[in-house]
Amino acid sequence: MLFMKTTTLNLLSPDTMYRALCDRDSEYEGQFFVGVKTTGIFCRPTCPARKPKADNVDFYRTALDALSAGFRPCKRCHPLEVFGVAPEWLRDLLEQVESEPNRRWTDTELRTCNIEPSRVRRWFKQHHGMTFHAYLRTRRLANAMGQISTGNSDTIGAALANGYESISGFREAFKNWFGQPPTKSRFAAQPILMNRILTPLGPMVVAATDANICLLEFADRRMLETQLTRVQKIYQTVFAPGTNDLISQLELELKEYFAGDRTGFSVSYSAPGSEFQTRVWDRLSKIPYGETISYAQLASEIGRPAAQRAVGRANGDNRFAILIPCHRVIRSDGTLSGYGGGLWRKQWLLNHELESSKPAAA
Ligand SMILES: [Zn+2]
Repeated sequence: MLFMKTTTLNLLSPDTMYRALCDRDSEYEGQFFVGVKTTGIFCRPTCPARKPKADNVDFYRTALDALSAGFRPCKRCHPLEVFGVAPEWLRDLLEQVESEPNRRWTDTELRTCNIEPSRVRRWFKQHHGMTFHAYLRTRRLANAMGQISTGNSDTIGAALANGYESISGFREAFKNWFGQPPTKSRFAAQPILMNRILTPLGPMVVAATDANICLLEFADRRMLETQLTRVQKIYQTVFAPGTNDLISQLELELKEYFAGDRTGFSVSYSAPGSEFQTRVWDRLSKIPYGETISYAQLASEIGRPAAQRAVGRANGDNRFAILIPCHRVIRSDGTLSGYGGGLWRKQWLLNHELESSKPAAA
């Protein structure tokens, strides 16, 4: 096994977590996961299964950490399904945010609702990669962008309607998010919508126009920024947080893929690139689920047997993790070699596909 990630620091003591586990305390849902060493399975704190002895458990901060340590998800409590789902204590707040997106929340107001601000901060950091306040700001910006690009409002109207006290405040927020000020021409082209999709392997960033998905990457990938810049250049427009039918479709297809119920994707995507990249990406997209080929094989199949390194680079430039399955290319000697999303993810994806494509035992 090539899993290399280690358990991250946990703020709760093992005693507290073990007690929560024995009590099936839903207060701790989402705060930790437990790996059972004797069975190799990991669970949510509230799993209905018989509780293991304290000596036989390992605690993990996230489902991802438990996966990375080599544990399989429990079939009774489905620990992967809760990944990203809001815990009970947060639901009211999230509903209020949805119904009153322009409301600003102070820590005092959160405490009045019996919610500990630091807990909210931690949850948003973990699930959206940003603080609660940054999340609220992004939402307001998304609303404003939506109204401007659909022609329902001008810049000033959209700014004021979405809780910005002044046009300069809106401009500042816009600049902070997009790295450039809002101009008329930037709104002329439809913005590329950007969102996060939570997966068992961590959050992914998706970008889409109305016609095509134009990027899907793991959020922590170092090259993400470079890739976003490339997409922006190709489409000559800005990114706006938001969602559309294609993003929803991709989210659903990914969910099925991770559940082992889907072996190919039907969502439409567009991957403009150089002639060489296009050849490599086309060939990549034809590698069947659960199978691998080598860089050498790929190079020779596209008629450039000496171009193994260039093939490797084109693989790295693929902007569609999982969708264009560059994880299915390995070295001729069977070792994994590089993967933009991290080797442990490549290993996980290959294992997952291999296991899901085995015929079910009679
Ligand atoms: Zn369980």
